[in-house]
Amino acid sequence: MSESDRQFGKHAIVIGGSIGGMLTARVLSRHFDRVTILERDAVPDDSAPRKGVPQGYHVHVVFSGGMKVIDGLFPGFSDELAVRGSVVCDFAKELCWYHAGVWKARPESGLTSYWQTRPFLEANLRRRLKSDTTIRICSEHSVVGLLTDPGKTRITGVEVRPGDGDGANERWEAELVVDASGRGSQTPKWLESLNYQRPEETILEVNIGYASRDYEPSHDDSRDWKIMALYGTPPNSTRTGYIFPIEGGRWRVSEVGFLNDSPPNDDEGYLEFAQSLERPDFYEAIKDAKPLTPVSTFKFPADKWRHYEKMSRFPAGLLVIGDAIATFNPVYGQGMSACALEVEELRRLLESCPEGNGIPANFYRSFFRRAAKVIDVPWLLATQSDFLYPQTQGKRLLHTNALNWYLVRVLRLCSGNDRITQTFYEILHFIKKPTAFFHPSIVWAVMSRFIRMSQPPESSKQRPARIS
Ligand SMILES: Cc1cc2nc3c(=O)[nH]c(=O)nc-3n(C[C@H](O)[C@H](O)[C@H](O)COP(=O)(O)OP(=O)(O)OC[C@H]3O[C@@H](n4cnc5c(N)ncnc54)[C@H](O)[C@@H]3O)c2cc1C
Repeated sequence: MSESDRQFGKHAIVIGGSIGGMLTARVLSRHFDRVTILERDAVPDDSAPRKGVPQGYHVHVVFSGGMKVIDGLFPGFSDELAVRGSVVCDFAKELCWYHAGVWKARPESGLTSYWQTRPFLEANLRRRLKSDTTIRICSEHSVVGLLTDPGKTRITGVEVRPGDGDGANERWEAELVVDASGRGSQTPKWLESLNYQRPEETILEVNIGYASRDYEPSHDDSRDWKIMALYGTPPNSTRTGYIFPIEGGRWRVSEVGFLNDSPPNDDEGYLEFAQSLERPDFYEAIKDAKPLTPVSTFKFPADKWRHYEKMSRFPAGLLVIGDAIATFNPVYGQGMSACALEVEELRRLLESCPEGNGIPANFYRSFFRRAAKVIDVPWLLATQSDFLYPQTQGKRLLHTNALNWYLVRVLRLCSGNDRITQTFYEILHFIKKPTAFFHPSIVWAVMSRFIRMSQPPESSKQRPARIS
């Protein structure tokens, strides 16, 4: 234990044993005698997908900012991933990304990224957690309610339904409960039943459909990329395709359709969808590759942000984290990294609490404010991109169209411009703030280009080769 590992109690409970729950448990284990993760699913020993994380069948990547937090909590984690089979890539040099109607430049970025399936990532986190004797993972334990003190001002534990639900519910006590149960979080409902208000919500209906399967890559000596992302250009194209390298020398391929334009799950339809993308490169890559799995589908109806940071009354002893606060269009794949950065804020806050009096009653306020600042960035990127489609249902802010006008032009400049591409990637990886888009040199580049012409040059339609 380090000097900053202040002790706040005997027992903390985390609801949900996915990425948010596991990282949170690790932080809490420094401040509580015991931490229990209650997970509804039967948790596999290996890296099999599971019911509670259906998005695990689809492409997933962790960005540098998120991986840095994970490495901080589990030293050497990313190196272990590489040793155990993750594919290590330079995020720009080895990525072919068609976006906003142009192929991005492919500079050597120094942004090392690790590519694997989501269940593989989780299995490796669980393996590290198991060596922490303070933490216990109870699988097949569903949390069905919160326990409170008589005045309902403090959460004192949870009501749990163990196993298949045939037995009686149990009462598990804890000084702190953290809800990391994802998008389906019941906290708003539980708060209401305790006479608190539900958090205000911002919702954007995007109706995105995913269809994914694994492939054995086709052989192609001329292939100079490891990752491909081919985005449809709004507002005309609603179709996107991803090819991610994963453990075992396979590809995980996801096709994505916005606004109910979901990809099909049969072999023929899958290839037809690939053929309908804006550029042929994705189809060309998968057409001769060997499918290894059936197609799994997933529907993502809406971006949703539950604004706990705006609540004036909230019980002590309870926090909410990760997708249970906000879940946004995975177009930029930032959910897990955002989750990790929220956990990092929790770590910093706990370490700055005065020793001796437990966690202050208004701790939630500071935490939710900090979490909201983390969420601001991926929310902005995801929702700006959603609003490029006029059909997106949700409140457009006054500046939305102006910001989109500017951002689309920045994205177009990523073709053939290493520096702007690097800036975009650093923002994506949570290394720079989005204000970096407004660096005077980028504003100048956008404006001078706008004055010269408004269309991308024809050359940007060609995929840039990477000669190393
Ligand atoms: C198709 C798709 C692709 C994505 N791609 C990316 C990507 O490339 N990169 C990225 O960073 N993010 C991506 N995301 C987002 C990412 O999956 C989420 O942000 C992330 O999983 C959030 O983690 P979490 O721990 O908060 O919640 P979840 O992962 O949703 O986990 C919640 C856990 O709580 C458990 N649970 C639920 N209710 C209870 C209960 N009552 N009692 C006990 N346990 C309970 C569930 O079983 C589950 O294990 C993607 C999302 C989707 C939908």
